[in-house]
Amino acid sequence: MAAALPVLFLSHGSPMHALQPGAVRAVWEGIARDLPRPKAILISSAHWETDIPAVTGTSRPETIHDFYGFPKPLYEIQYPAPGAPELAEKALGLLKEKNFKAAVDATRGLDHGAWSPLLYMYPKADVPVVQVAVQTPLGPAHHVELGRALAPLAREGVLIIGSGHMTHNLRERTRDAAAPPAAYAREFQAWVKEKIEARDFDTLVNYRELNPHGVRSHPTDEHFLPLFVALGAAAGNYRAERLYDGIEMGTLAMDAYRFS
Ligand code: ZN
Repeated sequence: MAAALPVLFLSHGSPMHALQPGAVRAVWEGIARDLPRPKAILISSAHWETDIPAVTGTSRPETIHDFYGFPKPLYEIQYPAPGAPELAEKALGLLKEKNFKAAVDATRGLDHGAWSPLLYMYPKADVPVVQVAVQTPLGPAHHVELGRALAPLAREGVLIIGSGHMTHNLRERTRDAAAPPAAYAREFQAWVKEKIEARDFDTLVNYRELNPHGVRSHPTDEHFLPLFVALGAAAGNYRAERLYDGIEMGTLAMDAYRFS
């Protein structure tokens, strides 16, 4: 059997990254360049929330512009990657094997949590993409199990990506992109890195209680959940590499991880 592809966690940033990617661009491009070409991409995005686990099943996913009040050119961006209905069915089967109630959504397209980094990773939009939803009320541990259920796909040439954020306090962010990072965001980032490297999932899934900055770093859970999908999908003895740790607008940590 071929070696499993690494699993990724990416912080996708503001939708503006699609127009002005800044420093993270080279990181996203480099990550894709260093990987074997995947047969398909399975990407969990914080911007698709459902009651039960769901995957996109259309063969031609539309580019969803799921944001308001941004410059017009952002609404003109298209990411016309094909879907992968067979992969969606396979993912559904794997979820059901692990006793998840799950569904294929036959019409849903790709939101910016998926297409914003993929614009730079696979600019030709020629790798098929299936998006995976998060179930915010079910919390982190559920998403680790979701990732574990989907893990076999990484051994079949599928690149599994969690696309969320390392810290995501929008209320406290500044408009100044170059603002110095908030100390609590740096501390949370370092704590998470240590727990990821120790593969200490028991602590990580309880980050809201166990880290003094957990709630402030994620006033709501959804942008952190794709990390848990990635951790669950990664090999049990993974080696974690943090490939980027920039913090934008003071409070938005943009960490990128590769688990191999
Ligand atoms: Zn987002």
